[in-house]
Amino acid sequence: IFISFEGVDGVGKTTQVNRLRDELEAMGREVVVTREPGGTALGTAIRRLLLHGVPVESADGEACADIAPRTEALLFAADRAQHVAEVIRPALERGAVVITDRYCDSSLAYQAGGRELTAAEIRSLSMWATDGLLPVRTYLLDMDPALSHTRLDHDEDRMEAAGSAFQRRTRQAFLDLAAREPNRFRVIDASGTVEEVWQAIREDFVGLL
Ligand code: ATP
Ligand code: C5P
Ligand code: MG
Repeated sequence: IFISFEGVDGVGKTTQVNRLRDELEAMGREVVVTREPGGTALGTAIRRLLLHGVPVESADGEACADIAPRTEALLFAADRAQHVAEVIRPALERGAVVITDRYCDSSLAYQAGGRELTAAEIRSLSMWATDGLLPVRTYLLDMDPALSHTRLDHDEDRMEAAGSAFQRRTRQAFLDLAAREPNRFRVIDASGTVEEVWQAIREDFVGLL
């Protein structure tokens, strides 16, 4: 069973991924928890480039090389291709439950919805990178990004600093994706307590099993 968690920064994806893992392990299932970007060693190197950029010499000291939108999309796709080949497919083949913290929909929401590339371009790039592997269930944790950002417990990365209009476009892009594929997606209100959000996920997941 292949599950993904999606949503804008700080909505509680990692928290709920861990809750689901604990629940499944208590049931005796083999669970592989992974994430994008950075689910492999190569992916971890790509994640560092994407989140923190590449330092370059400049007149006023610290600066980062620009990452063009197409380059950014290709770096996410490269991370994903390696992730599927090295982690996700082998785990699914031996019967494990795979839970990924972000997957293709993040690219559609961030690299297409938030920036200037088209969804069709990003979709075909993702389909090529994954050889068409999609989750059977995607939990979209949804809430106002202005509120979820106040939950963030780390310094802003390059993407998180992109501004509130970008975050609002990204949230809407996720909701549009969910409306397009109602069988795969479940939109979960992420504004409640950890326990409330978990109960909503659990209720659906029990039915899925
Ligand atoms: P990111 O996109 O940055 O990876 P995330 O979606 O994975 O974020 P978490 O890291 O799970 O979000 O949560 C962000 C912070 O908010 C953490 O400190 C977490 O403990 C807290 N948190 C998670 N869920 C809730 C909730 N329902 N209510 C309040 N705080 C929460
Ligand atoms: O969820 P996580 O903190 O691991 O995501 C890392 C950063 O990469 C976040 O700022 C997220 O917004 C961004 N991201 C992105 N496009 C993706 C996946 C993540 O811009 N496809
Ligand atoms: Mg997280």
